[in-house]
Amino acid sequence: MKEVVLTIAVPCYNEEEVFEQSYYQLKNVLTSLISEGLVSSKSQLLFIDDGSKDSTWDKIESATHFDKLVSGIKLSRNFGHQRALLAGLEEAVQFSDCVISIDADLQDDTSVIREFVLKYLSGYEIVYGVRSKRETDTFFKRSTAQGFYRLMGKMGLSLVYNHADYRLLSKRALTEMLQFKESNLFLRGVVPLLGFKSTSVYYERKAREAGESKYPIAKMLAFALDGITSFSVKPIRFITLIGFLSSIISIIAGGYVLVQKFLGDTESGWASVMISLWLIGGLLLMSIGLIGEYIGKIYEEVKHRPRYIIEDNLCRNKQANPVKS
Ligand code: UDP
Ligand code: MG
Repeated sequence: MKEVVLTIAVPCYNEEEVFEQSYYQLKNVLTSLISEGLVSSKSQLLFIDDGSKDSTWDKIESATHFDKLVSGIKLSRNFGHQRALLAGLEEAVQFSDCVISIDADLQDDTSVIREFVLKYLSGYEIVYGVRSKRETDTFFKRSTAQGFYRLMGKMGLSLVYNHADYRLLSKRALTEMLQFKESNLFLRGVVPLLGFKSTSVYYERKAREAGESKYPIAKMLAFALDGITSFSVKPIRFITLIGFLSSIISIIAGGYVLVQKFLGDTESGWASVMISLWLIGGLLLMSIGLIGEYIGKIYEEVKHRPRYIIEDNLCRNKQANPVKS
């Protein structure tokens, strides 16, 4: 039987506090998979440094020197989690039969990696890691995340509930996924669109081992808005509907104000004029903002800018098994 080359891709942004722990834990998992004969000894841990400002890259770099299981990529600046992961995936697809993506902070239970691999070996192309519990996340994080999945569902986008970016992709699924060329690639929205035989593995999400979340509220909101506007034009339709309804309401209100005027009681109409003025103004601004969001998206896409820039590539298998792109 052909040996399976597995790459575990780990995006890291300012993760110096947790890097060692993360490295040792993942290495343990990988070496036991290798010694069990489930994956090839050419398998790799691939750390992608997303323009960290701390010593993360130095740590990755030195790990690549003393450990032949470790590869590293350094992006030229901070491109964001999704793009850092994408950089890792595009690199890994060249020399791996399957790739697992996982965050550096060890919130996702590494012991289920073995299960991921077993599912892959039994013929699944995509394996989703799904959190069965999120008790260690803050109430705020849990409820915003839940709201996000609900909203995405309403927008007609099928996301795997409680699945983030902890998953296994086969080379085949990954190759197809990399055909999605939008510059703001929202991975967890794209993967379910691929089809293929897929399954889920459940695990408990833990608290961050060290360091703090790189997703403060503003980033989270931007991420959600990005996700929604990348996949659905429903918000625009919704706004159009509201605009239509509010126009009808203002026509009725206008009629009412006119009647008031003929009755010589103009002052009482003032309130309704003011209310509708604000209402319409607000709706207009909201609609323009939303439409602007889409136009901005188009603008971003037509520029065809690179999604990330690699400054340093310390991938061990880089030349070993090159694949034409
Ligand atoms: N990350 C990244 N670039 C960024 C922000 C985050 O590569 O701009 C990485 C980070 O190092 C971590 C993963 O993405 O490995 C998820 O980030 P985090 O744990 O902060 O997010 P949360 O779990 O709080 O949603
Ligand atoms: Mg995290």
